[in-house]
Amino acid sequence: MPELPEVETVRRGLAPVMEGARIVRVVARRPDLRQPLPRDFVKRLEGQTVTGVGRRAKYLTADLGSGDVLLMHLGMSGSFRVDHDDKKAPPGEFHHPRAAAPAHDHVVFHMSSGATVTFNDPRRFGLMLIVPRRELAAHPLMREVGPEPLGNAFDAELLAEACAAKKTSLKAALLDQTVVAGLGNIYVCEALHRALLSPKRSAATIATRTGAPHVRAVALVDAIKAVLNDAIRAGGSSLRDHRRTDGELGYFQHHFRVYDREGEPCVTPKCGGTVKRIVQNGRSTYFCPVCQK
Ligand SMILES: [Zn+2]
Repeated sequence: MPELPEVETVRRGLAPVMEGARIVRVVARRPDLRQPLPRDFVKRLEGQTVTGVGRRAKYLTADLGSGDVLLMHLGMSGSFRVDHDDKKAPPGEFHHPRAAAPAHDHVVFHMSSGATVTFNDPRRFGLMLIVPRRELAAHPLMREVGPEPLGNAFDAELLAEACAAKKTSLKAALLDQTVVAGLGNIYVCEALHRALLSPKRSAATIATRTGAPHVRAVALVDAIKAVLNDAIRAGGSSLRDHRRTDGELGYFQHHFRVYDREGEPCVTPKCGGTVKRIVQNGRSTYFCPVCQK
């Protein structure tokens, strides 16, 4: 399932072909994604100029000249593909060969830039809605979303405050989208390993008794930002070198330190531990019981 870095990579792939371009034609082949497409979906998009492509948590936003926002979510298996009409042109930075099964191409945007942007989603948990920009922050999908982890407002103080009264494990707290936006199972495991904190530790222990940030909160915030920035950088190189991708925007080669590495040696220098897998809240947690305290 795509997490924040994948969604941000998709945003960076879509922005050059969509920003400033007009949506000439929209083909909506399957109206039944996670929620049905709005009835007036095509009408509200065709003819509109995309003024910006943004991201909030794991949602992509395309601002339109009309004041509407096209709100998009990749769900479990969604991806975007960019094709250019002029196949003879040398592959540009964001050219990707056709790869995904066309049967799952549910929505196609023909842009005035000559690019075609196709949303493919075999499992159809993806989402496309149109919301007026002024109503977006209060929208049910958005109003409880916590701070952006890469934003300046997200710091040790904020994270400690959000965790101080929690009765859950640290891992569960980080997966809570009201605590911090956009983190999923993979990057939570990775961030906890970098911060040398156990996923089983009580979330409240990153705050002191007065609710101020413990030094653990400082380490954790640094680790979260570092792990996300590294992944976004990896996504950026996959965009630049299209031969390394499988044609889809946003999925790229990862080098995980603990995720999916059960039984392999811990990469923390001088640790000597072995990566262990446990199940927390029904999901796999990968961590090193030796260096993650
Ligand atoms: Zn270790």
